[in-house]
Amino acid sequence: MKHGAERSHRSPLKQAPEAYDCIIVGGGPAGLSAALILGRCRRRVLLCDAGRQRNRWSSAMHGVLSRDGMAPADFIREARAELSRYDGVELRDVVVSDVEPVAPDFRAVLKDGAVAESRTLLLATGVVDTLPDIEGVEPLYGRSVHHCPICDGWEHRDQPVAVYGSPAEAKGLALAMTLWTGDVVLCTNGAAGWDDDARGELARAGVRVREDRVRCLEGTEGRLKRILFHDGEPLERTAMFFAGEQSQGCDLPDRLGCVFTEKGAVDTGRAERTQIEGLFVAGDASKDAQLVIVAAAEGAQAAVAINTLLVKRDHEAREQEREVPGTSERPGGA
Ligand SMILES: Cc1cc2nc3c(=O)[nH]c(=O)nc-3n(C[C@H](O)[C@H](O)[C@H](O)COP(=O)(O)OP(=O)(O)OC[C@H]3O[C@@H](n4cnc5c(N)ncnc54)[C@H](O)[C@@H]3O)c2cc1C
Repeated sequence: MKHGAERSHRSPLKQAPEAYDCIIVGGGPAGLSAALILGRCRRRVLLCDAGRQRNRWSSAMHGVLSRDGMAPADFIREARAELSRYDGVELRDVVVSDVEPVAPDFRAVLKDGAVAESRTLLLATGVVDTLPDIEGVEPLYGRSVHHCPICDGWEHRDQPVAVYGSPAEAKGLALAMTLWTGDVVLCTNGAAGWDDDARGELARAGVRVREDRVRCLEGTEGRLKRILFHDGEPLERTAMFFAGEQSQGCDLPDRLGCVFTEKGAVDTGRAERTQIEGLFVAGDASKDAQLVIVAAAEGAQAAVAINTLLVKRDHEAREQEREVPGTSERPGGA
């Protein structure tokens, strides 16, 4: 009885009964991790996910403590199963098509037409990678064509590897790649235009350069075999790493007025806060290292901050209510 009375007293005073404590947009590592923490805080959470996690192309994720080599799909499945223990957490496989602040809350419009309100909002919407425009790249992507040597370099150590990209971006990646293998060929897909210093730097690091235009990639069962060029001999390689571009996973951060870094990440502050009260952005969508374990940690950090914010708001509302029951005014109107 006391517990029930406490809970009804604790309930937010000015909220519509259906308002969630938090809507999380995005069900990758960042969003799922946040939902877990908030569920454990007995928060009402709606997590909406479009199901296009960034590493879904990959057969194994690496560098995730205690999960090294696990399939990304298994990771998501297990994380979702864990969340089913927490009755405050609701998962929906749906795109959030719009969100608007309706101070002090947020209103989300889901693609199926449903509308949901929440006291806080966490965008964990990730990023989208642009693949190199080369024939044959898609079936190899995430298996022997990668963009991150920290995620996948180990699996190709001491093997013949290509690095692909524009001369400016791919040079640094090729130099970094020599940590994993001494057999690196940098393919610039056209004249690199470097001066002697740049060429000397690459040569001293043992990186060979191929400036012919790339025609296509050949491989079987996800394994790269060779790169074909418009001119010259094919190049036998077992993997290719590319320097590519990425963009935000959706336009919600932009539409909500988030501030972006030069690299296009949302510029979050402490605990993934944005400049907009109650709005948090975690995971790849926000700045800092783009790794599964970092995304999960950022989601957890945001969740702790969200819970703290809600505790504070509830406390303040209770205190106001205590001063003048039934109104938000102080005695004497002060
Ligand atoms: C090929 C590849 C391999 C990788 N390998 C590794 C690895 O081995 N180790 C490692 O640590 N990292 C790896 N990464 C990086 C890793 O995938 C990311 O760091 C991680 O997925 C980021 O998690 P996130 O939750 O921020 O975003 P994501 O996992 O991308 O999840 C974002 C989710 O939000 C959803 N979403 C977006 N907009 C909306 C919307 N409007 N409404 C509803 N849902 C929406 C998306 O559909 C998606 O499901 C790899 C990345 C790639 C591309």
